[in-house]
Formats: sequence, structure tokens, C-alpha cells
Amino acid sequence: MGFSQSIPKPEDILGFKVGADYHLATYTQAIDYLKILAKNSERIKLFDMGETSMGQTMVYAVISSSENIAQLDKYKQISKKLSLVKGLSLQEAKKLAQQGKPIVYIDAGLHASECAPAQHNIQLAYNLVTTKDPKTLRILKNVIILLVLANPDGMNLLAEWYHPNVGTPYEVSSMPWLYHKYAGHDNNRDSYIVNLIETQNLSRLVNKEWYPVILHNHHQTAPFPARIWTPPNSEPTNPNVHSLIVRWQNLIGSAMGAAFDTEGKEGAISRLIFDTWYPGYVTQVVDSHNIISILTETALYRYATPHFYTIRDFPKQYQDLTMSAFYPNPWKGGWWRLKDAVDYCLTASMAILDVASKYPRELLFNKYKMGFDIIERFSKEPPYAWIIPKNQRDPGTASLLLNRMILLGIDIFESNEAFSCDGIKYPAGTYLIPMTQPFALFIKNVFEEQQYPDLRKYPDLWQGLVNPKKFEGAPFESYDMMGWTLPYQCGVEVFTANSPVNPQMSLLKEVKPEQGNVKGKANYAYLISHETNASFTATNRILKQGGKVFWAKEPFSANNNRFPEGTIIIPSNSVRRTFMEKLAKDLYLKISGISKKPKGTTYAIKKIRLGMYKSWIPSVEEGWTRLIFEKYEFPYFSIYDADIRAGNLEKSYDVVIIPDTYRPEMVINGYSKGTMPPKYVGGITLNGLRNLKQFVENGGTLIFMNSVCNLAIDHFGLPARNILKKIKREEFVCEGSLLRMEFDTGHPIAYGMQKETATVFADSCVFEILPSFKERKEPKSVAKYPDENPLMSGWIYGDKIIRQKTTILDVPYGNGKIILLGFPVQFRAQPYGTFKILFNSIFYGGIE
Ligand SMILES: [Zn+2]
Repeated sequence: MGFSQSIPKPEDILGFKVGADYHLATYTQAIDYLKILAKNSERIKLFDMGETSMGQTMVYAVISSSENIAQLDKYKQISKKLSLVKGLSLQEAKKLAQQGKPIVYIDAGLHASECAPAQHNIQLAYNLVTTKDPKTLRILKNVIILLVLANPDGMNLLAEWYHPNVGTPYEVSSMPWLYHKYAGHDNNRDSYIVNLIETQNLSRLVNKEWYPVILHNHHQTAPFPARIWTPPNSEPTNPNVHSLIVRWQNLIGSAMGAAFDTEGKEGAISRLIFDTWYPGYVTQVVDSHNIISILTETALYRYATPHFYTIRDFPKQYQDLTMSAFYPNPWKGGWWRLKDAVDYCLTASMAILDVASKYPRELLFNKYKMGFDIIERFSKEPPYAWIIPKNQRDPGTASLLLNRMILLGIDIFESNEAFSCDGIKYPAGTYLIPMTQPFALFIKNVFEEQQYPDLRKYPDLWQGLVNPKKFEGAPFESYDMMGWTLPYQCGVEVFTANSPVNPQMSLLKEVKPEQGNVKGKANYAYLISHETNASFTATNRILKQGGKVFWAKEPFSANNNRFPEGTIIIPSNSVRRTFMEKLAKDLYLKISGISKKPKGTTYAIKKIRLGMYKSWIPSVEEGWTRLIFEKYEFPYFSIYDADIRAGNLEKSYDVVIIPDTYRPEMVINGYSKGTMPPKYVGGITLNGLRNLKQFVENGGTLIFMNSVCNLAIDHFGLPARNILKKIKREEFVCEGSLLRMEFDTGHPIAYGMQKETATVFADSCVFEILPSFKERKEPKSVAKYPDENPLMSGWIYGDKIIRQKTTILDVPYGNGKIILLGFPVQFRAQPYGTFKILFNSIFYGGIE
């Protein structure tokens, strides 16, 4: 079918060629152009998949032959059937694999500053839609392509930042805000828990609608001086994937390498740096969904600005251009322009499509085969299922976690009868996740404890094939987290079934906590448990209404029940019962009425004027913290360097949070002069630091999060030190693992916590309290590591150093408080089980 004569080229519409120096198309321009293609060709169809965090519509393109485009539903159904396995015999699967078309998902622009891939989508769409080349026509005949721009907001933000700077001294300066409203670069750490609306949209597309055989996730930048990185991946390999995934990754990666060399594009490298251990990535999350993920990392200078490299710019070991198995055609230097990067992306995408067009039946049948093998495996070996009791400390969070798993393609059931398993009795209504489902390895991957392998144990398999730094001295980290067990992070109780379990049960579309209610007369007050995250949403709504809130300082008895310290007390003369009933219903809360004032004392909780420091050196943790503030309805104001430099903070704020940043000293110094437009230069400065001190001395509360606690220790003269600050890698390694922590639940910062809980350790601090000066009040330790190895999931080396060491400090300072949260209580918005430490700290900050 050919409209191709009348189809405008990208440059006809954009006004510049895709990849031209100094030019980046915005998301809006890209979609406008795709719409023109869709109007003029039967090879492309556009669909919406939902909104972005900043309210744009996410549009994706489906490209194939016009014959295939006319039958998309048929091919979608075939893919779904093969992928879900159920009710399909081997013979039927083989037949379907003959009839189907492999769906290949290609996304770009997830990391907006890595700008070539998103530009390449525009050119790729044009090339595919207008091609007359026989090889490409075969691709269109045999393959259905989903073309996705994964971060529309970022694509616009980046172009809007870059273009005015072109030709100024700030042409290659970094963008002073996150390229995703909340997550920035961490939008590629969200895939196994789908907190972001964009990740939810993408996950629905992949796991509920199209069931692609291959997912290609474009990134930049390649390990210098290589021009592109492709699979085979580095080690360690995540064990919760079918071996066929790894085989196809290796095959496709090698085919890509051959395509680069055929086209005379030097510098394709494989097998180092990027491992597949962590499943939070867009790529690794789909591996355990039996989708072959392909990551590529194309070389990048900055934006659309060209750069010239000589061999002398290369690291020493690359300067003699040695040929090697995974880098057989070294790059020799020269110009590198956006156009080059776009061309490399095009070669990479086309190589994948070429493989898919050559092996359509094998790929489709293998998809079935993987699911089939996994179902077979777990009908014979444990874990047979995951069992999740309905009765949880925080039922809202348990439901949230399970609903996210449903969105990720997992089948969750509710038992219709009581049953027992491994000697434990479970009542009717218990949730079950049987492992006899095709994506069972995903649930195993995120629910089990991670046993990070000691890479030194496998020299024949791995040594020399991984980043050599990993073999120096102490054991080594993976590229990202080493342990992530989601039920631990969320504080959700989960059991594995080590023997077969098969009660009568029904599949759930959605998991809902038990209905909330208000019980008993409330002549005096309403009581809400401090254990649920929803209790903070409730508190914020009550305070917003003008209601009064108190926290019980001591345990007390009422209505023949025992209520622990921290119980939330809302005097009934400050709120209407109908309001409380609505709250109970909307937030699934169990609220008790009491008619007499309970014994004991209370803290009065007030509405907090909360300031959230936002550096011009963007911090993903600042973004994630905003996301959870909005989710739990904490009002806040972002405050900037200039606000802190101006001082008088106590006039506007009760509590100021300094979120975790890459390098704490950067809070003070910011960008140096000349590197950025003047507005963004300079940090809070030492003067700002003095203003923060004054703010606390006058009664304010400062909360420091994770590594930025070092700033407080170094500059506020606190009677404490971080004993990990100067520790060497040979003595201690722990990055991104889950550790057991003990809490003083009698301290308001730990109200509602369990005495022992899993916590995230990632670039964290542990404190030693120093003998303090007489006039200073003693800091209080709110939490510490136990007197044994605290590892729950992941890896730790040298754990003795942190045993019994303090992790949260409440430091009286002048008339105010400094709170040091030495570990990331809201890390990437994932540890729902420890969010309340931050929430408590905020309200505690307002207690007089
Ligand atoms: Zn990236």
C-alpha cells in the first residue's frame, strides 16, 4: 500500500533533519509528526495509553504492514494466549506460533537527557512507514512494532532547557531540575513496584495488552570510548529468569554487533558494567515476564552538541585499540554528533527487528515454552504459592502492594475456604499467589529474599568478564540494589507454601482492604491506630478541616481494649461523626469511639508549615519524597537556595527537610560560577547554613535524610559522628540491601512501627553519640541495628561495624530539634513500611 509519495519527511515538518546539530524535537513535535504519518499511511496507527505526571497524553505508535495493522486484535490475542499458556496444548501453541506475528516493543527517551533515542523514534517511524527496501518490507510483514516515547514530560523539559542555551556559555550545562517530575533518572528504578503513573501506563501496555516477545529499551551512554553497548550482559545474572531469555539476549546482542560492523559503525561493546541482577529496571522486570529485554547504551556527548575526540582522550587501556571478543571493532575517535548517535540507535532497533522477522515462529513458540516450563516447574517444586494473610498491620499498604502485582500481570486469588499449609492454618479470605502461572518468576523475584552471589567464587564463569573493580579487595556491588524484597520493604507479612496448596479460590480483579468503620459512642473522642500509612492521610484531612489531633504518650485502656502509645486521639467536639465515618470508609480505617478521657498524657499535633529543600542540583530523593507527600496529602512548599540564603525561615516554616543528595557538600556550594546561568549557581552558602542554625535555635525543626546527615554532623557541631564516613571498602560494603533494625517504639518518631523492621541501607549513616557538652541536652537514639548480622535481603560485608549502632537521632538544639534519619526511610518511594518515620518526624517537629 503506498501513500509514500505524499508522506512528508520529518524535516519537512520539524524544520530540521532528525539528529541535526543543536536541534532537539520536543515530544509535542514528535507526536504531531507521528499523527501526520498516521493520517497518510496504513502502516501506522496511534493509540493513547494514559497521562503523564504533568498531564500530557502518552501516545504510542503501532507499525507493521497494512495487512497486519488491519488485524491487530487478532495478533494481540495470539500473543496473549501464547504468553498466558493456560488452556493451550503444545500442539495448539505450535499452530498459534505459525499464525501469529511477534510483537516488538521499542521505547526511547525514558532518561530524557539521553536524547538521541527519542529523536531516533521519529526517523524510525518515517523509515518503516515509507520503506520500499525488501529487507524492511519483510520486517513489516513478519513483525508488529510498538514505538513508545517513555517520558514525554522529560523530552519537552529537556528541549526547552537546551535550546535557549545553544550558543551561550551554558550550552552543555546540566538541567537544574529532574527530567521526570518526581523520579528523574529513577524512573528506571520503578518498574517492579510501579509507583509512577507513566510506569503504570507502560506496565499495562506490556503485561495486560500486547505481551511483546522482545522489549528494547534505549539509553545513553556507552562505556567510553565504545560507541554503543549491547547485550550480552554483565554479571551477576538474575536467577529468576528462564534460560531462554539469556540465550536470546546473547543472540540478539551478537546480531546487533554484526549489523554495526556490516554498516561500518565501529565501537560496539558488550559484557561489561550492565548486569541483570536488579529487577526495578524497565528491562529486567520484563525478563521474568518471559519477554526478552534488550538494553542498549549509545554514546553521548551532551544534548545535540557535537564533540571531537582523539585517541588521547581515551582511557589508557583503550588507546592501543586492542581487539577483543566483546569489543572486536574498536572506535578510533573523531567527531561524535547527535546524528551519529541517532544512526547507531537506528541500526540497533533495525537489527532487533531483523532478528524478530527471521525467527517469528521460534520467538512466539519460545514465549509459550517459557511459561509452560515455569508452570511445570512450580507444580513440582516449592515455593508452590505465596500466602498473604488478610489480617495485616497496615491492610491499605498490603492491598496496594498486591494491586501493583496485578497490574504487573500476576494472578492473585482469595481462598473461599479455610486451609492449612506447612502446619499453619489460614482462614477463608486469605490471599494466594499460586506459582503455577507463566510470570511466577517475577513474583518470586520480588517476594523472596535476595542472596547476592559472591562473585569471587566463580572465577571461571565470571572473572575477567565483569567490571574488574568488582574484584579489587572486598566484595562488590551490583550495578544497582542487591536486595529489594518488596514484602519486607512494605511491611507486609507473606508466607511461602513449601508444600502443595490448593483450596477453593477465586481470582481477584482488585484487592480491597476490609471496609472501614467507626465503632462505638464517641462522646469524648475517636481513636485511630498509628500503624497504617492511611492514618497520616486521615490526620492531614482532620487538621485541614480544623479538627484537633493528639498522640497518646503512654498506652491506655478504653472499651476493654488496650491502646498503645502513639494512638491517635481526635476529640469528638472538633470533628463531625459523619466526617469521621466518611474518612473510615474512604481510607479503610477502623476507628473506635470512646466516651471518657483516657488516662495519661498526650502530644498536641498541629498543622505543619513544611518546607522541602530543592537544590538546583536535582535530587531524585527530593522528587520521590514529594511524590509520597502528595500521596498522603502532606501540604508542603519547595524552598530554594535563595530562600535559605535570605533567612528568617521561622517566619514561614515549622519544619524544614533537607532531602538526600548525591554529595552533601553540594548543598552548601551548589554549581560553581560559570558552569550554569547565574540564577542556579552557588548553593545555600555558609550564610544559608547559619540561617538554618538560627531557624532551629528559634524553635524550628530540621530533618536530614540519609547521607545528607553528614552535613548536619559536620556543620552544626552535633555531639555525634557517622562512623561510616571514613570507612574503607576493605572493611565494609553494603549498597542497596535490606537490614533489620530495632526501634524504640516509645519515641514519637517510631510510633506505629514494629519493634523490628526491615529497612533500606543505601549510602547510609550510622551514628555514635559523643560525650556532649554540659549545656547541651543529650541526643536520643530512636533506632539501631541489632547485636547480630542485620542482613535480611541482599549483601553485607563487615556487618560487625554497624551492629548496635544508632540510625536515627533526635537532637535537641537551641529551642528546636535536629532529626537525623540515617537511612533512606522513603527510598525511591518503595519502603512503605518505613514512610511513617518521616511522617512522624514532621509532626513531632511541630510538638512544643
Ligand atoms: Zn539511561
